[in-house]
Amino acid sequence: MHSNTAIQDEEDKLHEECGVFGVFCNDPERDAAALVYYGLLSLQHRGQESAGIAAVKDKTIECRKGMGLAGEIFTPELLSQIKGSAAVGHVRYSTFGSSSIENAQPFVSRFKLGSIAVAHNGTLTNADVVRELLEDSGIGFTSSSDSEVIVNLIAKNYKKGLEKALTDTIKFIKGSYALAVLTDDALVGARDPNGIRPLCLGKLNGGWILASESCAIDAVGGEFVRDIEPGEVIIINREQVLSFSFSEKTRRAVCAFEYVYFARPDSVIDQVDVYGARIRAGEILGRESAVKADLVIGVPDSGIPAAIGYGRATGTPFGLGIVKSKYVGRTFISPDQNKRERAVSVKHNVIKSEVRGKRVVLIDDSIVRGTTSRRLVSILKGAGAKEVHIRICSPPVCSPCYFGIDTPHRKDLISNGTSASDLGKTLGADSLAFISVEGLLESLSVLDAIGDKNGDAPVSIKAGPERSYCLGCFTGEYPIPVSGETGE
Ligand code: SF4
Repeated sequence: MHSNTAIQDEEDKLHEECGVFGVFCNDPERDAAALVYYGLLSLQHRGQESAGIAAVKDKTIECRKGMGLAGEIFTPELLSQIKGSAAVGHVRYSTFGSSSIENAQPFVSRFKLGSIAVAHNGTLTNADVVRELLEDSGIGFTSSSDSEVIVNLIAKNYKKGLEKALTDTIKFIKGSYALAVLTDDALVGARDPNGIRPLCLGKLNGGWILASESCAIDAVGGEFVRDIEPGEVIIINREQVLSFSFSEKTRRAVCAFEYVYFARPDSVIDQVDVYGARIRAGEILGRESAVKADLVIGVPDSGIPAAIGYGRATGTPFGLGIVKSKYVGRTFISPDQNKRERAVSVKHNVIKSEVRGKRVVLIDDSIVRGTTSRRLVSILKGAGAKEVHIRICSPPVCSPCYFGIDTPHRKDLISNGTSASDLGKTLGADSLAFISVEGLLESLSVLDAIGDKNGDAPVSIKAGPERSYCLGCFTGEYPIPVSGETGE
């Protein structure tokens, strides 16, 4: 699962695996690949190792991929090679399979009856078994990615017709997946029966968009329509938009970490606005573990809304005490601890005049290895902060993720087997507290009103019993059985 140590160790964070984006234009003259390019730029936070776009024209799929950021790979010249009125794209951070061009997506398969391109966000938990079965039946693989299993299964079943090929494929695979699939004449979206990874639908000038996050629909001037439901397949072609459920056993279990850290704050996922959830998490932290202080600051970027919420709830003045350099590259960082800690100093600096002589509450989204927190406490104290109290808006991360998020080994998760107070001491803080699991759920279930773009009255949606979240990395209980771990 963990393949590129130099890159995965570069930050003390969990990493999202991928982002997907697809466009189907009703006007055959429109350039869908260019729209996908802009969509990928908005999803770049979900993966920076490779990017790819596949477009279909005259029933031929052309695909271009490269290593690095979408904005660097897709020059105007490269984009001009992939014209078409429908296209899918992908940005990748590797968890399954190495970081190499062979594993970059979309994966394309050309066969007797047509061709398909698949962009996948998530991780299949039975990829090895399915791969072996496919290899036994003579199907070759060009990569080590679990996502190639999906493209080969669809291609194998294609003679049954697209709809049947999709349902047969999807019933066979297990794990987390949000898919954007391009065929000779259709764009297809699908989400696993628990909806662990997000996928939403948008409209654009009579055409349609599929995106991992709603911020990417906004980026191309589209209109958000709705989330793809867990266990739903949607097929979009010139004649119709067909939606059906491929699984009766659906139970929403969206990754709670999407709201804590992965998603962009301007996205709305399954009717929860990410920014609002972060503010509420800070408010709840303030309620659960307030401490007397002169200033509350957030670790940029996702700690900032939570710090605002904490300040509101406790009356502690909010300030910007830490500045993050947006231009620190990933390549120079190697996995040893010293270099990692130095990387944190390059990445974050303290505004000394803001923190000097003050009791500071430092809010961050999560603690994974502890490298960032330890270093930030040290530079805050070095800048003259009288006290530093860490407050974390997710519960302790003690277990690995099996659903598309890059997590260190259990032994490297610093919260594993340690109390919050001991961990606080280890990190040099005056106190440390995490939000409770109940508090995190409350931040997600008390939803902000979401208005539509027609200006209609906003609707408020309360979490019902059918709404729940994956909390596996916090609780060790997973929505899908995982070998060696407890199911819910
Ligand atoms: S285990 Fe954690 S990171 Fe993985 S899907 Fe569940 S909540 Fe998200």
